[in-house]
Amino acid sequence: MSDETAERIADLIAPLRVRPGSKVDLERDFDPRYKGGLKKRDGAELLRTGVSLLAEYQERLAAQDTYGVVLCLQALDAGGKDGTIRHVMSGVNPQGVRVSSFKVPSSEELDHDYLWRYNQRLPTRGEIAIFNRSHYEEVLVVRVHPENLVRQKLPEGSLGPGVWDRRYREINRWERYLTDNGFKVVKIFLNLSKEEQRTRFLKRIDLPEKNWKFSAADVRERRRWDDYQFAFSEMLSATSTKWAPWYVVPADRKWFARICAAAVLAHTLDEIDPQFPDVGDQARQDLLVTRRALELEAPEGDAADPYAERHPSAGRTGKRHGKSRKKRG
Ligand code: AMP
Ligand code: MG
Repeated sequence: MSDETAERIADLIAPLRVRPGSKVDLERDFDPRYKGGLKKRDGAELLRTGVSLLAEYQERLAAQDTYGVVLCLQALDAGGKDGTIRHVMSGVNPQGVRVSSFKVPSSEELDHDYLWRYNQRLPTRGEIAIFNRSHYEEVLVVRVHPENLVRQKLPEGSLGPGVWDRRYREINRWERYLTDNGFKVVKIFLNLSKEEQRTRFLKRIDLPEKNWKFSAADVRERRRWDDYQFAFSEMLSATSTKWAPWYVVPADRKWFARICAAAVLAHTLDEIDPQFPDVGDQARQDLLVTRRALELEAPEGDAADPYAERHPSAGRTGKRHGKSRKKRG
C-alpha cells in the first residue's frame, strides 16, 4: 500500500490499541460511540479501500507461505462479530480463510486442556483464521460463570483464586510462541454500549427474520453486564502485549466498527509485508527457455505469445511481478 494509506490506517487505529502494561477501565477509557472524526459517507469508500487491500495482501500471504494470521474477535451479544466478519472478509479468496466459531465446549473438548480446541483451529502458513469468539472466552464467560470452570475437570491444585492470573500468563506465552513461529495473533474487542445492546436486542425481537438470532440466554447475560465489563477490563489489562496487542473497537456504529476491524487487519498484514516468492535466477532462465519453445508452437498467423501481445508491459523486460511498498525506515 502507499505510504499515505499506511499512515492513515496507523493513525486511525492508534487510539484503539491498548498499551501493553496499562491498567484498563473499559468504561472510563473507551467510548463505544467514538468515530474518529469520520462521517458515515466517507466510511463506505474507506471500507472499500480496506477490503481490496486485504484481498491483495492475502494473495501475497498465501503465495509466500511463511506467515499465518489469527484474528480473534470478542464482543458481548449483539456486538456485531458476524457482520464484521461478513463485511471485512467480503473481498478475500475463501480458500485462504477459515472461520471458526467457539460455543459452549463439547464433552470431547472438556476432556482436554482448555487451549486444545483453539489449537485445532489455528491457520496454516499462508492462511488467515478468524476466531468468532476465541480462547479469551476462557477468562470471560468462564470467569463470570465459574460453574464453567468446574466442568473443565481441573485437578484440585489448579483451581483457586490464582487461576485467572495463571490463565492470562499461559495465554500470553501461547501467543508469544505462535508469534515467534510465524503466526501473528490479532485481537479485536468490539466495544458495545449497554443502551445500543438494548436497541439491537429489540430489533431482533421486532423483526421476525431476526428472531433466530435472539435467545433468552442473551438477556440473562445482559444482567451480568457489570461483571463482564470487569472481566473485559482485567483481560485487556493483562493480555495486551507487544507481540499481540488488543484493539478496542468502538462498536455502537456498525460502519465504523467494520472500517476499524479492516484497518487493524490491514495494518498487521502491512507489518508482515508478505511478498510473492522470487523463483531465483536459474529457474527464471529455465522459464524463458520454456517460453521460447511454447512460442515456436504458435499456429501459423497467430501471435507467438498471445498474453504478452495483449499485455505489452508484462514479463518481457525480465522484470518480475511488482513488490509491495518498500518498508519505511
Ligand atoms: P453464540 O456465539 O451466540 O452462538 O453463543 C455461543 C455461546 O457459547 C456464548 O454464550 C458463549 O458465552 C458460550 N461459550 C463460548 N466459549 C465458551 C467456553 N469456553 N465456556 C463456556 N461457554 C462458552
Ligand atoms: Mg448469542
